[in-house]
Amino acid sequence: MSAQIRPQPGIMDIALYKGGTSAIAGRDDVLKLSSNENPFGAGDLARQAYLRAGHDLHRYPSTDHAALRMALGAQFGLDPERIICGAGSDEIISFLCQAYAGPGDEVLYSQHGFLMYRISAQVAGATPVVAPETDRTTDVDAILAKAGKRTKLVFIANPNNPTGTMIPLSEIMRLAKALPKQALLVLDGAYAEYAAEYDGGAALVDTRKNVVMTRTFSKLHGLGGLRIGWGYGPGHVIDVLNRVRGPFNLSNMQLAVAEAALADTAHISRSLSENARWRDWLSERLTALGIPTDYSHANFVLARFRDAEQADACNAALLADGVIVRQVGSYGLPECLRVTVGDEAACRRVAHVIGMFMEGQA
Ligand SMILES: *Cc1c(COP(=O)(O)O)cnc(C)c1O
Repeated sequence: MSAQIRPQPGIMDIALYKGGTSAIAGRDDVLKLSSNENPFGAGDLARQAYLRAGHDLHRYPSTDHAALRMALGAQFGLDPERIICGAGSDEIISFLCQAYAGPGDEVLYSQHGFLMYRISAQVAGATPVVAPETDRTTDVDAILAKAGKRTKLVFIANPNNPTGTMIPLSEIMRLAKALPKQALLVLDGAYAEYAAEYDGGAALVDTRKNVVMTRTFSKLHGLGGLRIGWGYGPGHVIDVLNRVRGPFNLSNMQLAVAEAALADTAHISRSLSENARWRDWLSERLTALGIPTDYSHANFVLARFRDAEQADACNAALLADGVIVRQVGSYGLPECLRVTVGDEAACRRVAHVIGMFMEGQA
């Protein structure tokens, strides 16, 4: 770093985010199960919209995202005026931190929470605070015990990544009611669609002034590469976030593809039903191999090994076979591997390699 040209205090404390690996040198049959991507990719309607959008590359996009907000409102029964769209839900998380947290403020999240909460808090100069979980599950009392005068934002992913666990709406409601008055509760619904009978907290947002929901097109809709997310909140919060948001934060391509993806009910229902089926199959296989998992409400399974050493050894065995899963030591879970639920062939392949590894351990 230059002696004179220095970033804001705290920036150099930020640990660089490491994405899921996607390649293994010298292999062309790699199976990537490390980033919770939809194994079927984007749907046909999204791909067609992508090609059509190529004709308008010279046009500036809409600044208010009205068409996509209307479509989201209609689909989920929400007030489009209180929806904000961003370059992935990561950008909504970052807007929230920029707008509501700064030096001296605290941003609270749970023990095995998403790494972006910490990074976005640090970028804003705020102090990240971690509340312990109980059995890898969000613990409302532990969060309340850490919440105080300085708490500005509380992030909860429900279902959570990388644990796959979730808490019921009644618990979220209890948390929203008991938080200090100046704290905003953010419900990260990146995996909300995968959870049975769960609205991501949308109805709760409608009844409270201190709850925001974030959602994404990256997981269920298979559009992680295009970067589209959105948030739903009280009017006063959305007004603030729109002031932080750049006017052209989403391209024509992102807006058009997102709208098409939302309408692709065939792709959505196939993705959901295949995920539920193979997620449960994979969990059962792992259990049979002596590797416990918590019931997952998302599109991945967290495999718990005996210890970090065994998890590392299994990861090495998987890599040697061309299978990439996610090591989650950076989430405080070094004894675990997070495995994205792929299609049938992918699930059978990963279970087979882990099975061979466990046989060698016996
Ligand atoms: C994948 C993920 C996101 C979504 O990220 P995008 O920026 O929308 O791609 C948000 N939160 C959690 C917990 C995630 O796992």
